[in-house]
Amino acid sequence: MQVVPIPCLSDNYSYLIICEKTRQAGVVDPSEFTPVWEEIQQQGIELIAILNTHHHWDHVGGNEKLIQKLPNLKVYGHHSDRGRIPGQNVFLDEGHVVTVGSLEGHITYNPGHTTGAVSYYFEDSVFTGDTMFAGGCGRLFEGTAGQMYRSLNEKIGAYPATTKVYFGHEYTESNLRFALSVEPGNPQLQEKMAQVQAIRRNGGYTTPSTLASEKQTNPFLRCDSSEIQALFKKRKPQKEITPVAVFKEIRLMKDSF
Ligand code: ZN
Ligand code: FE
Repeated sequence: MQVVPIPCLSDNYSYLIICEKTRQAGVVDPSEFTPVWEEIQQQGIELIAILNTHHHWDHVGGNEKLIQKLPNLKVYGHHSDRGRIPGQNVFLDEGHVVTVGSLEGHITYNPGHTTGAVSYYFEDSVFTGDTMFAGGCGRLFEGTAGQMYRSLNEKIGAYPATTKVYFGHEYTESNLRFALSVEPGNPQLQEKMAQVQAIRRNGGYTTPSTLASEKQTNPFLRCDSSEIQALFKKRKPQKEITPVAVFKEIRLMKDSF
């Protein structure tokens, strides 16, 4: 499997997932047509599928033009996104398997950012859209804090620590700035911020991360951190400390950071 990140719009990433045996490929979240189409030509691959993580326009914006060019494309998304993802013709749920050439992708249902969010898990890599970012997570537009907590910590978080995390937006540096504001004493977080700033100074991409790195640095996977829990206790002295309550509070803080 080869994965090619394609920067789109101002800070989105689309990804080509290429089966090196058959030269067939799928595209995760084609935000816009032109950069995706150029990369397909460049790679000389046969695009057979669009893999949408959720219905937002900045993740499906290229669907219609790609389908015009390639009318036989399979267009995947969660079944509850029927009518919200242009051209969708396969309606997924938790545990379904999709194929791209000889590659298999396993579907995890991740409500929280939207009610129809899914991740695609291929080999050693997971494509998370706006559910998990490096150092952060998507806003709660349609789902609850409890749903998002479980999607991140119990579903995506259950994959092996070595799993590569390919996320939907280059928000890493600002996410880590927030993370440091809630957990300034985390040495791995300080180190990751330095690495990320060096990458961004050179115009590089911070995708992919790994699940191991996220568990060390992403505050939304660290609701059991004593430093984050102490902050919660200070802000909400009467409230019982539970992982979901901590998650909800730091998600609210991030909304206005
Ligand atoms: Zn979104
Ligand atoms: Fe987005």
